Amino acid sequence: MKSRFPYRSLEELFSFLKKVPGIGDRSALRMTLYFAALKPKESRKFAKGILDVVDNLQRCADCGNISQGETCWVCNDKERDRNCIMLVESVMDLLVIEEVNYRGLYHVVGDLVPDSKRISSLRRKQILDKLLERIEKYRTKEVIIAFPYTIKGESLTRYFANALKGKVLLSRLSKGIPVGGEIEFMDTITLSAALERRYTL
Ligand SMILES: [Zn+2]
Repeated sequence: MKSRFPYRSLEELFSFLKKVPGIGDRSALRMTLYFAALKPKESRKFAKGILDVVDNLQRCADCGNISQGETCWVCNDKERDRNCIMLVESVMDLLVIEEVNYRGLYHVVGDLVPDSKRISSLRRKQILDKLLERIEKYRTKEVIIAFPYTIKGESLTRYFANALKGKVLLSRLSKGIPVGGEIEFMDTITLSAALERRYTL
């Protein structure tokens, strides 16, 4: 197929930007032209910002959140309530829930981006084992499931609910979350209400 770009550098930047979740052809094109018009000093700053994130951040060894050291800012916070761990699908969902009044810990089962591929069964088992280890270590009493009401969210809920039944009090965010709704698109009032009205599984 003939490329729409006359120059390889533009084509490469465009294909790279298109990989960003939620960015379609049009937005990628707009961003490519924006970067092409930047002053060299500005574009270097931007590139450095990306490198800083890649070089300095990793996954938290405890909860899977994004982290600057071995463990993340949530796990390191001694004020957080260790009686409660919330299962979230992605770091994006964690960041959204941080905007409401939740002071427990998290366990991130998916990837950094919400619409990443399916989680392999081996990876899911590893995540579950780590969660069980944490529940024992902190003597956690409640696990709140904050997966969305989507096919993937339902399947994750079944998996974790089966494995955790009888070990902790299990609850799930209420259906204030619209069916098929993703956590990341919810406003904080709806999300607060869903957390408040969580129900026991
Ligand atoms: Zn952590």
